[in-house]
Amino acid sequence: MTVKVAIDLALDRLFDYSVSPELQKKLSIGQLLLIPFGHRNARGFAMAISNEPYKGDVKLKQVIEIIDEKPFFSPELLKLVKLISAYTAAPLESVLKAAVPAAVLKKNMRPKELLYVECDEKANSADYEKLTKRQKWLYEQIVRLDGGWLNKLAEELETSPQTIKALQKAKLVKVYARQFRRDPMAGRKFLPTKPLQLNDVQSSALESINSSTLPVLLFGVTGSGKTEVYLQAIAAELEKGRTAIVMVPEISLTPQTMRRFAQRFGDKVALLHSALSDGERYDEWHRIRNGEAKVVVGPRSAVFAPLSNLGLIVVDEEHESSYKQEEMPRYNARDVAVLRGSIEGAKVVLGSATPSLESWVNVENGKYNLVRMSKRAGAGTTPAVGLVDISSGESGIFSKQLLDAISDRLDRHEQTILLINRRGYSKSMMCSSCGVTLECPSCSVPYTYHKVDSCLRCHICGKWCLVPQKCPECGANDFDMKGLGIQKAEAALKKCFPRANILRMDSDSVSRKFSHDDILGAFARGEADILIGTQMVAKGLDFPNVTLVGVLNADASLNQPDFRAAERTFQLLSQVAGRAGRAELSGEAIFQTRDPNARAIRLAAKADYEGFASEELAERREWGFPPYYHLSVISLSSKDIKLVAAWAEMYAKSLESFAKGKDMMVGEATPSILEKADGNYRWQIVLRAKRPALLSSSWKWLKSIRPNPSQLRVTFDMDAHNMM
Ligand code: ADP
Ligand code: ZN
Repeated sequence: MTVKVAIDLALDRLFDYSVSPELQKKLSIGQLLLIPFGHRNARGFAMAISNEPYKGDVKLKQVIEIIDEKPFFSPELLKLVKLISAYTAAPLESVLKAAVPAAVLKKNMRPKELLYVECDEKANSADYEKLTKRQKWLYEQIVRLDGGWLNKLAEELETSPQTIKALQKAKLVKVYARQFRRDPMAGRKFLPTKPLQLNDVQSSALESINSSTLPVLLFGVTGSGKTEVYLQAIAAELEKGRTAIVMVPEISLTPQTMRRFAQRFGDKVALLHSALSDGERYDEWHRIRNGEAKVVVGPRSAVFAPLSNLGLIVVDEEHESSYKQEEMPRYNARDVAVLRGSIEGAKVVLGSATPSLESWVNVENGKYNLVRMSKRAGAGTTPAVGLVDISSGESGIFSKQLLDAISDRLDRHEQTILLINRRGYSKSMMCSSCGVTLECPSCSVPYTYHKVDSCLRCHICGKWCLVPQKCPECGANDFDMKGLGIQKAEAALKKCFPRANILRMDSDSVSRKFSHDDILGAFARGEADILIGTQMVAKGLDFPNVTLVGVLNADASLNQPDFRAAERTFQLLSQVAGRAGRAELSGEAIFQTRDPNARAIRLAAKADYEGFASEELAERREWGFPPYYHLSVISLSSKDIKLVAAWAEMYAKSLESFAKGKDMMVGEATPSILEKADGNYRWQIVLRAKRPALLSSSWKWLKSIRPNPSQLRVTFDMDAHNMM
C-alpha cells in the first residue's frame, strides 16, 4: 500500500510513501501524517491511497505515524479543496492550509485540562463524621453546587484549592483533570429565543428554500427579515439531523449577529472568527469535527468547517468583497459555498439586499433560483432619499438641507448617522504653491494627514512622519488639505452643533482607544446624537432611534479605476440608507453629491436595484467585463524597477501568443494603480476569457515556460476583485 501526501511546503506536488502493515488498517484519506522528509520529519495530509504495488524506481520511505486518526478532511472536503486548487491555480497545500485554522495545526496546541471536583458516590457517613465542622460545611456546599472546577469552587466558597483537595483524602470528593472548553461566548448570557411567527413573504421564502434544488438567491431589502428565515431554515435542517454553516462578512460579526444565532441554537453553535484566541479556535474547530457543534457561524474560512451531514450553507450579504480572499489561495468563499453545496447535496442560500451582479446573472442563466422579499418585516418603512447637488462647491462640507435635517433630529431626540465615503486617498496634503502632493517614499500613495497627532501616515506600509516645515520641491510652507477628511468633517460638525454629542468611527478611532463594539454600544445606548464615520458605519447595524442618514460625498467612490466602482457605490449607498427608520419611526436619507446623474447615485436614491443591474450589466456586456467574462490579474512586483517592467512586458507577449486563436483577451502590461508599495514596484496584466479554465491554464503554462527570477514576485488572481 502507498499513500500520496501533501506536505506544507507549497511545492505543488504530492509525495509517495509506503505504509507499514500495522498502519495500513488505520490509514484513511484526509488524515494528518508524520513522514520523513529530507533530513527531518514533516507533517502532511493523506490525499490518496493505492493498493497497487509501487512502480517507481526509488525505494519509498515509510509513513512514521498517523498523528490523528480522525481525518481532518472528509472525502467531500478533499474533493472541494482539489477543485479550488485547480480553479484558482493555487498549490493544493495552500488550499489545505487555508481550510484548517492555523491554531489547530500548531504543534504544541492541546485541549486544555483543569482540575474538576465531583462528589464521590462511594462517600459514606463514617467518612463524613470524621470531618471538621468547617469541612462538613464545605462538603455540603459542593454537594449543593454539584461539583465544579476546582479553582472556581475555591473562589466561590472563599477557601483554597488545598482545602478542597483535603476532602479528596477524606474520600468524599474526587478531584481529577478534565477537559475545559475555551468558549468564545463564555460569561455572556443568552436568553433563548423562540421562532417568530413568519409573515407571508417569509413563509413563502422559507418554502422556496426548502424545496429548491438549485442555490437560492434571497433578494431581500434591509429589514425584510432574512435572518429569521435563515434561522428557521437551519432549524429545519437540524430537525432532520443535518448541520449548517452561516457565513457573514467579518465586519458584521458583531456581537449582535452572533447573539441571534447563539440565542436560538445555544451550545449547538460554534463560532469561528478572527478575534478568537488560539485556544478558543482550537476547541471550536474540534467541537465541529466531533459533531458537538451543528451550526457554524463565521467569515469566509467557515466555508471549510468540518461538519458532516451538511444540510445548508447560508452566505449573508453575499455581495461583500470580503468573501474574496486576497492572498493565496485567492478563492471567493461565496463561490466555494455553492460548490460545496453541490458536492455534499446541501442547500445554499445567498442573501443580499443588493446582490452581486455575478449572482444576478446566475439567476438569469437559470443557475440560481430567485426569491424576493421586498417589504420590511417588523415595524419601519423604506426611507425616503433626497439628493443634494453640491457640485457648485458653495455649501462647504454640509449642505443647508442636511444641516436642517440634523437639527430637526436633535430637537426630536432622534439619532443621525453620517457617512464619509472614503475610497481613494482623500485627506492628503498638497503644496499650494507648486502643487506637489506629499507621498510615502516606499509606496506611491499620498500620505494621509492625521490631525490627532499632526502627522502624515502611509496607509499601505504604515510609515509616518511629521508634517514638513517646507515643501520638499519648492520650499514654500503653505500646505493645503485635499479631499474630505473625517476629522475635518467632525470638527466642522462640532462647530455647527456645539451641544450635540458626536461619536466618530473610523479605522483610527477604532484601533486606538475603543473597539468597534464600544463605539456602537455607546451609540445604541443613546450616549451620542450623531455617529460620523467611514464605510464601517454602513454595515449590519440596527439602531431603532436612527431616523436620518447623511452621506457627505456620495460620488467619492465612483471615480476609482475599477470596473466595479459603480456597483460598490450602489451597494454602499443602498446599505447606508437602509440604516434609517428600522423601527416605528420613519427614516430619511440625504445623499450629497457632485454628480446627481451618475447611475449608481440616481438609482440608489430610488432604491431601484433591478434598474441599476440592467443598465450596468448592459455596459459590462458591451465592454467584456465580469460577469460575462472571467477576469484575472497577474501582478508582478520587485525592488528593481527595470526588472519588473521588462518581465511584465515579456509575460504579456508570451500570453498573447498563448491566447492566439482562443477566446481570450490579454491586456497590455502596465504599472499597477498602486505603482509602488513597501518599496516594491508593481506592474500588472489583466486577462479575460469566457472559460475560466483558459485563464488558469494560461498562467500555469506561463510559469512552466518562464519561471520568474527570485527578485521578482508574481501572483495570479483568478476572478480578481482588487484592481489596485
Ligand atoms: P434582514 O436580515 O433582512 O435585514 P432582520 O432579520 O434583521 O432583517 O429583520 C428586521 C427586523 O424585523 C428585526 O428586528 C426582526 O426581529 C424583525 N422581524 C423579522 N421577522 C419578523 C416577524 N416574522 N415578525 C415580527 N418581526 C420580525
Ligand atoms: Zn508606505
